[in-house]
Amino acid sequence: MRDPYPGRLAEAPRPLAECVWMFLSPLIVYGGQPTPFTGGVVATTIVNARVFDGENIRPWTSVRFEGGVITHCTEQPAVMLGDEVVDADGGTLLPGLIDAHIHLVPGALEQSLTFGVTTVLDMFSKPDTVIAAKDRATRSGAADVRSCGIGATAPGGHPSLMYAPFPTVTGPEQAAGFVADRIAEGADYLKVIAESGVSGAFTRPSLDAATIAALTAEAHARGLRVIAHATAVTAVADVAAAGVDVIAHIPAREELDDELVIRLAETGAAVCPTLATIENTLGERGDSAVANDPALGPHLGSAWVERLTVNRSSDRREMMPPYARAEHNVARLIAAGVCLLAGTDAPIPSTVYGASLHRELELLVRCGLTPSQALTAATAGPAGIFGLTDRGRIAIDHNADLVLAAGDPLTDITATRSITKIWRAGTACDRHAFPGSPAETEQLAALEALNAQVAKVMAAIRGHRPASK
Ligand SMILES: [Zn+2]
Repeated sequence: MRDPYPGRLAEAPRPLAECVWMFLSPLIVYGGQPTPFTGGVVATTIVNARVFDGENIRPWTSVRFEGGVITHCTEQPAVMLGDEVVDADGGTLLPGLIDAHIHLVPGALEQSLTFGVTTVLDMFSKPDTVIAAKDRATRSGAADVRSCGIGATAPGGHPSLMYAPFPTVTGPEQAAGFVADRIAEGADYLKVIAESGVSGAFTRPSLDAATIAALTAEAHARGLRVIAHATAVTAVADVAAAGVDVIAHIPAREELDDELVIRLAETGAAVCPTLATIENTLGERGDSAVANDPALGPHLGSAWVERLTVNRSSDRREMMPPYARAEHNVARLIAAGVCLLAGTDAPIPSTVYGASLHRELELLVRCGLTPSQALTAATAGPAGIFGLTDRGRIAIDHNADLVLAAGDPLTDITATRSITKIWRAGTACDRHAFPGSPAETEQLAALEALNAQVAKVMAAIRGHRPASK
């Protein structure tokens, strides 16, 4: 398998928002000097931990961080005078989780952090929303965020019904201008939406293969990764041929053919299947499984438990493809050695920021990833692919984005839910802060509006559907 990122962005520039965060961190001490004992907490050392570094279990039992950055990873306790000491009691320390596919609404970052997700990657939001979120991410109690801003789609293409008006692309000659505009707006990567081969009632205008190739080449030339939305086999083939870095979603209506699976493995493109959304869309009840999980439910708050357990047993429609085919396609990618990323597509109805990522990990393991590989798909994997060189791993000089889980997720992936402590950039998270907070109220109002829009989209789709039954 070739190196998927030759010569591109070996070192991602540290965005301004993040610099501000580091500057404001209350734990910053005198640069480079030994930590003076001040009587307060200036640094933290975790002891008695099992440590998963993003790829492997290490022999370390202790991790120390100071000023928001990891300073020691050791087999013996790394405690220094004045440190706060946290006894992990044999629990597993993981890098903070990364959700590689979300869409921003207010409260997204706060709710994500509640479940150990310390970084979210937004996959289509308007510039105002992204600016507000990046500002929020500089304060405590919120996950960090990267975003593509507006994705490239054809006029009238997906997701016009959700977000229009926004700039679109009509042909390859517009690729350079579109990418330049997104960079000017602060995009961290480019999203392209490929819908060739989407059939029946869901048919929408799509970028053609030549335009997708031109956008991808332009973004790569400007140092941006490219993420492609593709839900049909033809679209997957188009974006694979263009050389995109990540393919979002997984076809469920058709089986991926052998040749395409092999090509995906050869190109080195990663796939972020977002099964936690697809299972619900196709009539399975992953949402209730999340709400009823004793380790997740109590941290959701009543408003969310209600949303996720609402009776919608009639949602399974005859025209839907079987969800099992989506898992089957993911299983074949895994068998071929394709790199997978964990992403939820929250807040699509039936998903919830943070909590649904734990469901996604469970589904990826069900498809054939080992628990260790699934954890990498939510930590070092996305960090590497998106050039986030300061996170996704427990290693010296990396951000102290950490999750402490009581059990052993390396043997039972659902143990990631038994979280006893979360830190983002060295600051401990209050897991009770989100339910009932103004951020939650704001989020629920935004989702109300989003749901009304989804209902409109569904009505529009049904309006185009030839009369059935
Ligand atoms: Zn999405």
